[in-house]
Amino acid sequence: MTRKLTGLLTLLLVVPLQLAAQDVKTVLQAASKAMGDVRSIQYSGTGHFYALGQAYSPTSAWPQNNITSYMRAIDYGSRSSREELTQVEPTPPRVGGALPFAGEQKQINLLSDQYAWNQVGNASQPAVATAEERQLQIWLTPHGFLKAAMENNATTAKKGSGGTVVSFTAGKFKINGTIDNQNMVTRTATWIPNPVLGDMPVETTYSAYKDFNGVKFPTMIIQKHGGYPVLDLVVTSVQSNATLNLSVPDAARTTTLPPLKVTSQKLADGIWFLAGGSHNSVLVEYPTYLVMIEAPLDEARSMAVIAESKKLAPNKPIKYLINTHHHFDHSGGLRTYVAEGATIITHEMNKAYYERVWQAPHTLEPDRLAQNPKKPTFITVKDKYSLTDGGRSLEIYPLEGDTHNAGLMMVYMPKEKILVEADDFSWPAGTRSGPRYHANNVNLYRNIQHLKLDVKTIAPIHGEPVPLSELQKVATS
Ligand SMILES: [Zn+2]
Repeated sequence: MTRKLTGLLTLLLVVPLQLAAQDVKTVLQAASKAMGDVRSIQYSGTGHFYALGQAYSPTSAWPQNNITSYMRAIDYGSRSSREELTQVEPTPPRVGGALPFAGEQKQINLLSDQYAWNQVGNASQPAVATAEERQLQIWLTPHGFLKAAMENNATTAKKGSGGTVVSFTAGKFKINGTIDNQNMVTRTATWIPNPVLGDMPVETTYSAYKDFNGVKFPTMIIQKHGGYPVLDLVVTSVQSNATLNLSVPDAARTTTLPPLKVTSQKLADGIWFLAGGSHNSVLVEYPTYLVMIEAPLDEARSMAVIAESKKLAPNKPIKYLINTHHHFDHSGGLRTYVAEGATIITHEMNKAYYERVWQAPHTLEPDRLAQNPKKPTFITVKDKYSLTDGGRSLEIYPLEGDTHNAGLMMVYMPKEKILVEADDFSWPAGTRSGPRYHANNVNLYRNIQHLKLDVKTIAPIHGEPVPLSELQKVATS
């Protein structure tokens, strides 16, 4: 064989072949025929649930809980779904956040067209923010992908070594799916917006297909978010064309998010506790600038908290933002402070991580930093860091022996005897409970004692300010 010909053959093998529009239709129809066309599907099994954004350290995978029972029912025509899962903490206990409380946690997630809600006991709670993603999840299933590709007139497909990759756009989402040579959907991929990771890749692989009464369905499902698994399932039973009749409860008949609320409480001169949502921040006023402790959730929360701080202490820039740990619910608002010009003070293990993930594209939900890119500046903390200026002083300490997050830090203000901490103790007590949560209480108290901090008030990132004696009671009981 001549060198030229070998080169040409290599090129043919490597470069995927673009299919004509008519051929794309043929590929989808062949797959639909091979897998069995269904109106609805219901599958159940066991596996693992992984808590996105709750890793023990920025370089570890999302922490794993066991799923002892899983069931998902989807009706494609009415775009509705019901997902039920029971999570338990693995034994021996693991590190990282988002543990099932008190051993076991049952979740029921529902969707009917544009309405999303969760069932907690007998009550229905609207889950507005998740409706779009739950709809998308329907189109990421094997049969859902084929239906959506046909409905959205998928016209592009490339033939490669693993099969044919069919692509289409549904709303703001670009969706790719791989159909293998046996006409089975083996992989779907898309991107969804995430405050930390930007356009976060969502990849689902389907394998070990089996025949369930004429319908082919995978018995191994793995979904990854941001490169790490969020769900893996071994499917043991599949039922097709069962009726899924969901009536939307009145409580869930809303498609708008509740307005953001920021309340402020003065803890001492120049120190304010900014609450009103699920996560708090603490504002500290220095003579010529402001320091904010914690940028939770997302840009919307940061904007509201920044607006409130400008009312409380006008005409001073926010120079520093102190980040207690890298969990997404505590770091999702950081980019807004970078855009605001603040230097991020964080544990040394987080810097490289933030620098890397913040470079990802943010095209699905462009935030201020994406619209106006700026290189972030950091101060990193290893043992202790003090910020003393004009008679005002605060000290930052990493926690020793913490199992919630490897880089967890607390902030102590010696003059005012205030301690700001995240996730190790929240008030009212009982809002977070269980043996592992108790272990965090004990560890926090030990750290305070070990460092000989003269704490009077704990200002937690979750819950309300509380005297130290309450932690003492819980930790020594
Ligand atoms: Zn956390």
